[in-house]
Amino acid sequence: MIRDYDDLPKIKLPNPEEIKISDSTIRDGAQMPGIVMTRSHKLKIYEYLHHIGVEKLECFLYNERDRLVAKEMLNMGYEKPEVTAWSRAKKADIDLVLSMDGIEETGILMSISDVHIFDKLNFKSRDDAVETYLDALSYAVDHGLRTRCHLEDITRADFDFVKTFVKKILEIDKDSIIRICDTVGMGLPYPHVDPPFGIPGIVKSLKEELNVKNIETHMHDDFGFAVPNSIAGFLYGANWSNLTFLGIGERAGNAELEKILVFLVYRCEGFENRYNLEKLVEFARFMEKEVRIHVPRNKAIVGENVFAHESGIHTAGVIKKPFTYEPFPPKLVGAKRKLMIGDSSGREVIRKKVEEIASEMLGVEFKIDKRDPRIDAIYRDIHKLYDIEGRRSCISDDELKKYIEKYFLFEPVVDEVKAEENDSNKN
Ligand SMILES: [Zn+2]
Repeated sequence: MIRDYDDLPKIKLPNPEEIKISDSTIRDGAQMPGIVMTRSHKLKIYEYLHHIGVEKLECFLYNERDRLVAKEMLNMGYEKPEVTAWSRAKKADIDLVLSMDGIEETGILMSISDVHIFDKLNFKSRDDAVETYLDALSYAVDHGLRTRCHLEDITRADFDFVKTFVKKILEIDKDSIIRICDTVGMGLPYPHVDPPFGIPGIVKSLKEELNVKNIETHMHDDFGFAVPNSIAGFLYGANWSNLTFLGIGERAGNAELEKILVFLVYRCEGFENRYNLEKLVEFARFMEKEVRIHVPRNKAIVGENVFAHESGIHTAGVIKKPFTYEPFPPKLVGAKRKLMIGDSSGREVIRKKVEEIASEMLGVEFKIDKRDPRIDAIYRDIHKLYDIEGRRSCISDDELKKYIEKYFLFEPVVDEVKAEENDSNKN
């Protein structure tokens, strides 16, 4: 029987102990059109990621500002997230990485679809592209870097070509992380969809046919599949997923870090103590206030409404037992439950809010019955606003205070409480 949080069965992922998360909030995320992420924003984001326990992060090193941020992150001396680089398949880029003391891993961009090879990068042939990519990889490996090969636009590439290319990568670096970049979000999370679209098929083929040890997903959300695709990666044997907080990034953005974290910690076996999620909501408010990223109120995990209840049947359910309409406890992500009074609210939520607000006003605990005529009077007044006056917004706590004053404070409420206690003693 599933009647409480602890009764929920856990999902089993293959090799949970090998599954890790890398973050791209200050790299892909910072590329989001219309936002400017300052040095102090990036450092604060790094602090939040450290608090969560994210294993790795990637950053650009192209200009002095980028390098300064990377240095400051390294100077914080945190073991996690490891600071890693991102470079193009060019010696000059890799030299930049090598010039940074303390950075030991770099991603290398290896665009793999024909449209990227021929039309974006102007290579004469696929072979030319492969040669350039492998030269850069060898250079990085020869200079002692750990590598990630970012197979850009793999979901629009010729998958047989991808496989021959990956074999060559492994000959140079068998430990390289093969990043599946669903660059324009074409990927699908279903096992019966073949590559290049099917993420399970891509992961399985890399793992089983080519023996790739390290596979990472990097999913874009153009068609709304970024999170399911990242999870499909884990289900079929990928051991890394590259994510951004709030899913910020190019166009429709990336897979959301916070969604994957809650999925792993709360719903899967083996992650219970891996990540610390209690600042997720605070992190989202920081992004909203400081980095000016609008967070829709119904955004999963961190939106304002995730633990807000208004309708009569829901609020009554949640007041009795949160598990009825709250799939996970708000404190898991540092959120607070919000009971709201609106056009669909019943007497139970009004009673509950009156108790809360009156207790606060009086400084003593105040209790009242749902059938009290004053609760009924407030209920009627509020519904009149919606029925007759066409009110469109919720009733704020301040407004409710006025109703409390109107109906309760003619007589001293403390006496009311005592009278009630006496009443209940009599019963
Ligand atoms: Zn991307």
